[in-house]
Amino acid sequence: MLNFWFPNRCPVCSEVILPDELLCEECGEKILLDFESFCHVCGKVRCICEERSLFYDKAVVCSAYADETIPAIIHMKESRNTNFAVFSGQVMAERIRNSLIYYGKYDCVIPVPMHPAKQRKRGYNQATLIAKAIAERLQLEWREDVLYKNATRYAQHQLSAEERRLNAFSFGIHDEISLEGMNILLCDDVLTTGSTLSRCAELLKSKGAETVTIAAASTTPPKDWKNPQHQTKEENSK
Ligand SMILES: [Zn+2]
Ligand SMILES: [Zn+2]
Repeated sequence: MLNFWFPNRCPVCSEVILPDELLCEECGEKILLDFESFCHVCGKVRCICEERSLFYDKAVVCSAYADETIPAIIHMKESRNTNFAVFSGQVMAERIRNSLIYYGKYDCVIPVPMHPAKQRKRGYNQATLIAKAIAERLQLEWREDVLYKNATRYAQHQLSAEERRLNAFSFGIHDEISLEGMNILLCDDVLTTGSTLSRCAELLKSKGAETVTIAAASTTPPKDWKNPQHQTKEENSK
């Protein structure tokens, strides 16, 4: 009955999909950023490892923040269609599992926190949904009791790189936490400059974390970037 009034929809193209599907098959394929197309250390399409010192050690991402990924992320944040959070979590868990020699084993999954007032308003933190999906696939514990976020004046996406860097200092870690020797997977929805994730990784390491790998549903590509998935499609149709 519920499905009749509120059918499950693909968060990319809005087509009605089966209740147990997350994206329609076509969008699910188009949205993936090829595993070889991003740096496995910084998580960017154009590597920033040389120019930035980042506190995290490795990165896995699901998609590039362009084309069909944008509506999927907007739905995840604004319309309560959180299918993409689960989809990206599952994709990243599989990527880790398929490259275990590189990524290794983790002790727990931690989402980048959201300010409590904002989370109450939205009803959920999308980074937590991603963390839960990864944790479930990899049979790991996920924890929301480690990091916290204080209020900031501006939404992260409106900020310059310098403001993002300063904004990143609104994150904190609970005093009594010990992460001695742990290998941690840190999750977020969008990886932009890496400031937020690097700051959170720094906090985790301040409590003894051995390594931090970031898992981001989406990574912002350079302005001139073209999705190779689209190019092959267009060439094939010629
Ligand atoms: Zn679709
Ligand atoms: Zn890099």
